[in-house]
Amino acid sequence: MTEADLQRLRTIIEAHIAETRSSLPYLAEESKAVEPNVSLGCGKDIPMGRLEVVPEAFVCVECASRPR
Ligand SMILES: [Zn+2]
Repeated sequence: MTEADLQRLRTIIEAHIAETRSSLPYLAEESKAVEPNVSLGCGKDIPMGRLEVVPEAFVCVECASRPR
C-alpha cells in the first residue's frame, strides 16, 4: 500500500467518523424510533445514494451539516 492509498483511506475513515458523530445527538433521543432510510433529524427519506456511501447514516445530508 502506498502513501497515497493510506491518505485516501484516512480521508474515508474520517468522513465516516464525522458522519457517526453528527448522528449521535439524534440517536441519544430515546423517544425517536429508529427507522431505516429515514432521517432522524427531519423525518425525510435518506437518499439511497447516500446510504451506499455512508451506511451508518441516521440523518440526511442537511441534518448532518446542521450543527446541533
Ligand atoms: Zn434530515
